Amino acid sequence: MEQRILLSLAHMGGTEKKYVDEAFATNWIVPLGPNVDEFEHRLEQFLDVNNVVALSAGTAAIHLGLVMLGVGPGDEVLCQDMTFSASANPIVYCGATPVFIDSEVSTWNMDPEILEQAIIDRHAKTGRYPKAIIPVYLYGMPAQIDRIMAVAKKYDIPVLEDAAEGLGSTFDGKHCGTFGRYGALSFNGNKIITTSGGGALICPDKASADRVKFLATQARENRPYYYHETIGYNYRLSNVSAGIGCGQMEVLAEHLERRRAIHKLYVEQLSDIDCLEVHQNPDTRYNSNFWLTTITLDLDKSPLTPDQLRIILNEANIESRLLWRPMHMQPVYANAPYYGGSTGENLFNRGLCLPSGSSLTDDDIKRVTDCIKKALKPTK
Ligand SMILES: *Cc1c(COP(=O)(O)O)cnc(C)c1O
Repeated sequence: MEQRILLSLAHMGGTEKKYVDEAFATNWIVPLGPNVDEFEHRLEQFLDVNNVVALSAGTAAIHLGLVMLGVGPGDEVLCQDMTFSASANPIVYCGATPVFIDSEVSTWNMDPEILEQAIIDRHAKTGRYPKAIIPVYLYGMPAQIDRIMAVAKKYDIPVLEDAAEGLGSTFDGKHCGTFGRYGALSFNGNKIITTSGGGALICPDKASADRVKFLATQARENRPYYYHETIGYNYRLSNVSAGIGCGQMEVLAEHLERRRAIHKLYVEQLSDIDCLEVHQNPDTRYNSNFWLTTITLDLDKSPLTPDQLRIILNEANIESRLLWRPMHMQPVYANAPYYGGSTGENLFNRGLCLPSGSSLTDDDIKRVTDCIKKALKPTK
């Protein structure tokens, strides 16, 4: 049996261990430390911003972003419907209610028109405006963030970008995660870079970054004994994990290039299949990192459903995954308000994520595309 091809695997560059060894040698085996400072500095340089705070997870970053925006019980937060549950769960941690917004077909991300309709309707129904907007960069694809920001500005609602899948993606030359008031990144094992587990919050200024650091380390006031005026969190990144992150930053550019090259290979090799479309940048303003290359099937023409194709790939020892099932279709969010039609649901029914890890070779991709071609264009 050929070796299993996985969807997206951690891909070490080689220097990660040096930073981790340093943490051991200096006994900085704690949250905070020189690797954390250095990792934040490298992220700031890469993103061309200041005030990045390294945290224990992308989920923690979204949670603290909401806390910083003052989201609490009784509030509503507008969140992209087609996403991973970690975009929405922190809204519930805050005691607030998520209101889900459908996607548009060009980027698969938050539809700016439905967003505005939802804002107007929530105001009519509750007499209040939602407290925040969470757009997502699904599979790395930039959202129509210029239009989303325009709507947000019109109603004066802050934006918290969930850029967990979008590190290195740009819109109009500007990094995803740096458009809104806050931006959340993830360094989980399967993301563009990993710290084994980790995240970061991009903050608007030094005062808010300092406040996030304070909240992330149990909100300890500066006194000789433990003294608390605020509820704190244990959300800071460990110095050991940050060491992995420092090493990963040295190969980030290379890994981004490879993900985009893999996407290009898929586009080339799958172009002659009539019933299949590879999801691509809508125009030149969009520059996805192509964290995952995704396809959709035309179910009127395709001999297989995405799940049947997934099973055939799996039998050939190739991992693929159906698209993220929209939040309004999740039992846990069955009662949350939802605005939109069936765009997300339709994508979910037709789509599949293909192996896209930066360690995959051209031959690996060929193995995947040969298998797909054989399955969708059966020769007599
Ligand atoms: C991975 C992910 C998160 C959560 O990040 P963690 O670091 O795993 O907590 C949030 N949102 C999206 C869209 C993600 O893909």
